[in-house]
Amino acid sequence: MFRTLHSRLLLAFLIVSVSGVVILTLIIQIGVRNSFNQYLDVRREEQMNRMVEILEGEYRQKGEITGEAIGSLLHQQGMTEGLFYQIYDEKGRLLADSTRMMEMMGMMGKMGGVGRTETTGATATIPLAVEGKPIGKLVVYQVGGNVESQTIFLHSFYQSLFLSALVMLIVSFLLSWLFSKELTSGLRRLGEAVRELKGHNYAVELTGKGTPQEMQDLILSFNELVHSLNRQERLRKEFTNDLAHELRTPLSTLRSQIEAFRDGVWEPTPERLAETHGELMRLVRLVNEMEQLLMAENPNLPLRKEKIDLHHFLSQLVAQISPLFQEKGVSFHYESPGKGVSIWADRDRLMQIMMNLINNALKYTPPEGKVTLILRKKEDEAEIEVKDTGVGISEEDLPHIFERFYRGDKSRDRRTGGIGIGLSIVKALVVAHKGRIEVKSKPGKGSRFILSFPSISYHENR
Ligand code: ADP
Repeated sequence: MFRTLHSRLLLAFLIVSVSGVVILTLIIQIGVRNSFNQYLDVRREEQMNRMVEILEGEYRQKGEITGEAIGSLLHQQGMTEGLFYQIYDEKGRLLADSTRMMEMMGMMGKMGGVGRTETTGATATIPLAVEGKPIGKLVVYQVGGNVESQTIFLHSFYQSLFLSALVMLIVSFLLSWLFSKELTSGLRRLGEAVRELKGHNYAVELTGKGTPQEMQDLILSFNELVHSLNRQERLRKEFTNDLAHELRTPLSTLRSQIEAFRDGVWEPTPERLAETHGELMRLVRLVNEMEQLLMAENPNLPLRKEKIDLHHFLSQLVAQISPLFQEKGVSFHYESPGKGVSIWADRDRLMQIMMNLINNALKYTPPEGKVTLILRKKEDEAEIEVKDTGVGISEEDLPHIFERFYRGDKSRDRRTGGIGIGLSIVKALVVAHKGRIEVKSKPGKGSRFILSFPSISYHENR
């Protein structure tokens, strides 16, 4: 009972609205009864005064009170106002009496009011006088309860009041039910969607239309979460597929070569063994690079950042790598504005980035070609460019070269030994350093890889 948010909200709304309706009804009822009683008192006072005026007027005209002038008034006031009179002259003789009518109407039991005494049952005695001379007295009996017309009025008023209270209660129940259902519907749908997600159904998308703003925000975040899970799931599948694909070729080559040795079809000459070893090393490299990529793509990749003066760093790198260029007959140049361009970076990772780019430039540039390493100082950034006059990258390959296992020219790259992971690692490491990498290339003309890192301003210290 009342375990769901819907029923709890409904209960809360109902408690508020029912207590509101009950309190309002009670206040209206008490208020109306009080003002009605006040109204009745004022009216009775007026009626009594009217009676006194008529009697005194009669005395002035005729010199005595007969009670004839008020015969019909006595009857009328008894019936409609619950006022009954005994009229006495100055000698105490009873001239007119409407209290018998009261007995006939069975109202004696209800008699009451201020000043009522047990002996007389009178509620008030009003002396009659003309020009200061007493001419008699008027004894008024007031029936405590309401006379019929008044009872009917109050009765029908209470009926309408309770009826409207009932209608208000029903309406408030319906509205509370609808409102609490509306409020919780988004949460319910969200709960169902999360259950779907748990069952690996990533095709759930919610619409927050018509729900409160907070709920819409929550649904929006949920949809973003679903998209990101979807993307992760797609990447995971692609990755497994790619990996299986990449492993298949060297494994099947290795298998057929080893089977050929085993069955005596092939002589295990040193050249053939070297070829087999080459395939094996390709597998080893694949696994190593996969490991590197997984590490580089880890969002929590620990970076041992230090302040690195890029001119100093790149000069060392150039000295280290130049012999490889000489060996292939590719010229290698380095251009720099000199000292003073520094970034925060992990030295080993930065070395890995540069080695990958420079090795690629060397790999894809034929002898007689030229590779240039350029350091530039931009406003808030340090820019490093690796430019070559090599084979270049075709327009359709260009957008994909940072994707893992993507190789421009498959047959060529299998020959050159490329696995297609190097640039994915470079990109992941650059991103981990809050940098950017851009590539521009024209097939046959060469390629330019441009790295940008946030630079350290002259005074900055960290
Ligand atoms: P690989 O191990 O195959 O070199 P990379 O991820 O380093 O893998 O590069 C992906 C692809 O990008 C390469 O197969 C190649 O086609 C292309 N590429 C990278 N660098 C260059 C370059 N300097 N010149 C021409 N093509 C390049």
